[in-house]
Amino acid sequence: MSQPRSRVAIIGGGPGGYEAALVASQLGADVTIIEESGLGGSCVLTDCVPSKTLIATASLMAAMGSTRNLGIRFDHEPGEPAGSGGSGGSGAAGGSGAAGHLRARADALPTYSHARADAPQIYSRIRALAHAQSADVAKRLAAEGVRVISGRGRLAGPGVVAAGDTEIRADTVLVATGARPRVLPAAVPDGERLLTCRHLYDLAELPGELIVVGSGVTGAEFACAFQALGSQVTLVSSRQHVLPNEDTDAAMVVEDVFRRRGMSVLGRSRAVSASRTADGVEVCLQDGRTVRGSHCLLTVGMVPSTEGIGLAESGVGIDDGGFVTVDRVSRTSTPGVYAAGDCTGVWMLASVAAMQGRIAMWHALGEAVQPLRLRHVAATIFTEPEIATVGVSQQDVDTGAVGARVVKLPLATNARAKMDGLSDGFVKLFTRRNTGIVLGGVIVAPRASELILGVSLAVEQQLTVDEIAEAARRLMQPAERL
Ligand SMILES: Cc1cc2nc3c(=O)[nH]c(=O)nc-3n(C[C@H](O)[C@H](O)[C@H](O)COP(=O)(O)OP(=O)(O)OC[C@H]3O[C@@H](n4cnc5c(N)ncnc54)[C@H](O)[C@@H]3O)c2cc1C
Repeated sequence: MSQPRSRVAIIGGGPGGYEAALVASQLGADVTIIEESGLGGSCVLTDCVPSKTLIATASLMAAMGSTRNLGIRFDHEPGEPAGSGGSGGSGAAGGSGAAGHLRARADALPTYSHARADAPQIYSRIRALAHAQSADVAKRLAAEGVRVISGRGRLAGPGVVAAGDTEIRADTVLVATGARPRVLPAAVPDGERLLTCRHLYDLAELPGELIVVGSGVTGAEFACAFQALGSQVTLVSSRQHVLPNEDTDAAMVVEDVFRRRGMSVLGRSRAVSASRTADGVEVCLQDGRTVRGSHCLLTVGMVPSTEGIGLAESGVGIDDGGFVTVDRVSRTSTPGVYAAGDCTGVWMLASVAAMQGRIAMWHALGEAVQPLRLRHVAATIFTEPEIATVGVSQQDVDTGAVGARVVKLPLATNARAKMDGLSDGFVKLFTRRNTGIVLGGVIVAPRASELILGVSLAVEQQLTVDEIAEAARRLMQPAERL
């Protein structure tokens, strides 16, 4: 007699949930996924995919702004922008209005003035692409026989998930409910002028003067993209420099590029409130200054979507930040209940969410499984230039947590980069002292997201610097000599 099919119920249809559903279904389980907003999750509909689509347009605009050096001129170019040529430090680009007020200087526009962003077209392309990708996810799930229920799911007892009046009995439950932008009580978004990243694509126009509060990954990416598209951007950072949790050398390169392009970067400036004025917005800083602009984008972190879905009642452990506690095979403290993705706070990346979801299913369905290994995960920040990292960090080395040699090669000394007219960026490798085994790396360059692959493979396969150099040399040889 054949075994009854294992029943899997998944709450949340983002990469954590839908990748798990595909694996479970392929392993023969009877899978139900419950999603309240749209398949693909916030990743596809509002966060990762839309932001990278916006950045694709912004990158092209940025590239067009640097064509002069390469000898390309456009017909009908307006005059040289007054802000080009290296001005734009935090004080200078802030300009001054009434005492203590900062406003972006109109003459500090970036160097992309010969092309104009068509904001409605950009936003509608983003929305269409996100919906098409969500439909693709729905099709894939349907093709694999996954049942999809639209609605809000919650744990309703041991082995029971409820969605409205429907009850689903499951041997395994996966919680993959994601996270949402944090809202400060003194800066409540209204979706028109005071925005989170999820409001951006519903705007009717490009923000003229955009104040970005928060200089983490999301803040830096949007500040960079909107500056390239033609907004005058002020980036308010509570820390000494942008991207405070990243490799400091990399963050400094990006901040320097931001300033040279005319962005006003306000370091050590904590925003305490943001509100609407008659014609725009005003952000108050802790030191008494105010910043005024047309729109304010609040990027002050994400909070997990874990409340009101029966987790605590089912004994699922939750930490002080509201994140579900999981081990490296995605198990929660309740037998049979797993969790994956942003709701666990392990590392808020789509690739990590997907991997946690797959691992959960392999484990639950009795397959051989490798626990999650974050050391092998490459992460990219899609600023211009991009920052890509993998493995050991400079901080690990500086604090003595890892003994490693650090080698840093500036792009300005690289022949290939010179030919491409690139000088902002570097490649940094961390290697084991005696053996030369590659432990990690940081790449700051256009398309660093692709260049990091070689370093990732080296870290995963424990290759030495000699081995990857030899591979690179061989690849440079004509095919007949290989
Ligand atoms: C602006 C931005 C840019 C980003 N860019 C990148 C990037 O370039 N690369 C990258 O790797 N990551 C990026 N991320 C992070 C990435 O989007 C997340 O790590 C990823 O979405 C996490 O997937 P998830 O499945 O955990 O959650 P989500 O994608 O958030 O999906 C969770 C789903 O669960 C649903 N849900 C929640 N509660 C319930 C419930 N009770 N019942 C039913 N459904 C429910 C939600 O509606 C949602 O659809 C970005 C994030 C942001 C904010």
